[in-house]
Amino acid sequence: MPSRAPSVCTHCGEPHTGICAKRAAAIAARKARADRRRPSSSERGYDAAWEKLRADYLAAYPSCARCGQKAHLVDHKITIAKAPERRLDPSNLQSLCTPCHSSWKQAQDRKA
Ligand SMILES: [Zn+2]
Ligand SMILES: [Zn+2]
Repeated sequence: MPSRAPSVCTHCGEPHTGICAKRAAAIAARKARADRRRPSSSERGYDAAWEKLRADYLAAYPSCARCGQKAHLVDHKITIAKAPERRLDPSNLQSLCTPCHSSWKQAQDRKA
């Protein structure tokens, strides 16, 4: 196909040469969505230091702080978003079971 004659773009259906603006926008939008879906774990504040603290805390406090059942995870009482400096502060942590964590988070979100 001669490159100088505009051919109909397979993406937008318009005849044009060069990069398709609509296609470029679609690729950028898809990339932005993918980036939002998969923030790196360190960007969310969960890195190796947190993983170790979490494991140690769960070993020290194996029961849910709310219902006393076996805890599955360690939660920040004050969220990292609100108090990033307390991310690794044990006094800001609590062991929770999954059901309590869900209801606790929902309550927090309602307050926020
Ligand atoms: Zn196009
Ligand atoms: Zn619980």
